Amino acid sequence: MSDKKTILSFEVFPPKKEDEFENAFATMDQLAKLKPAFISVTYGAGGSRSKKTVQIADHIQNKLGITALAHLTCVGNKKEDIDRVCEELVAANVTNVLALRGDRPKDMTDEQFESRDFAYASQLVSYLKQKGGFTLYGACYPEKHFEAMSTRADLMHLKEKVEAGATELITQLFMNNDVFYDFCEKALAAGITVPIHAGIMPITSAKQVATTISLSGTSIPKAFSDLVARYGETPEDMRKAGIDYAIRQMQDLIDGGVDGVHIYSMNKPKMTAEIVSALSI
Ligand code: FAD
Repeated sequence: MSDKKTILSFEVFPPKKEDEFENAFATMDQLAKLKPAFISVTYGAGGSRSKKTVQIADHIQNKLGITALAHLTCVGNKKEDIDRVCEELVAANVTNVLALRGDRPKDMTDEQFESRDFAYASQLVSYLKQKGGFTLYGACYPEKHFEAMSTRADLMHLKEKVEAGATELITQLFMNNDVFYDFCEKALAAGITVPIHAGIMPITSAKQVATTISLSGTSIPKAFSDLVARYGETPEDMRKAGIDYAIRQMQDLIDGGVDGVHIYSMNKPKMTAEIVSALSI
């Protein structure tokens, strides 16, 4: 067991509609009681809902007194859009940004795509670093990003992102800790020495396996597919089994002394509280 203290953080998403904000604020209030080191707030790849990300991050940072990490994607944003969001973030005292490329929105034309200002997240990191005043995080992929030619190529591009100014990394969800440990070793060997937060998503329904997991390209270990085969048809049992699996996965990471565990909370404070209370850090 390692002596190193692992940082615990959460990811949340902003509401889609204006009339859902009160509910969202109540959710953030409950999550804040679990005292995470920071809460990250997702951002739509199209950029049209950027204000909602800023509004939620503002609440977390200023009303709840917890460090907010605002996600910011560049695929659907021109430089002036990025400048505007940055101004809004600075006005809200939110200075931690997870700089992402995002995926091409379905309604984006070829012309818009070809003329985008930022091709990769590292270019956004570099742009934000030049602006100054932000602490920059980047995304990484223990099982390789789906577009990368090879694990090595993906790691080299990750290194470029760190060299451009990303001082912490958060991973895509994974279900097999050996994959994560192996990735950290390879990253270190490639000269990537910044903290890496392990992204864990509790999978509590068989439907989530078909949607979230298959979309993310995450491999499913046999131990977990056995649970789905056994409990997939009984929602309450599957929920319990999924939470237990996530707790065991996180405890192993904490015992292994990882830098951080980032829980994809899916705006579920009750589930997140069940997990946090079961962990010994
Ligand atoms: P990049 O770092 O740009 O990498 C994308 C691909 O390009 C990789 O295959 C990389 O190897 C390759 N690449 C990088 N540089 C080069 C280069 N110079 N030449 C050739 N290839 C290169 N999406 C959202 O829309 N909103 C969110 O809030 C959001 N939050 C996320 C949070 C986390 C922790 C993670 C892991 C992902 C998140 N995503 C989010 C998804 C993310 O936007 C997608 O996975 C997207 O496809 C890649 O974004 P990136 O920032 O990792 O891209």
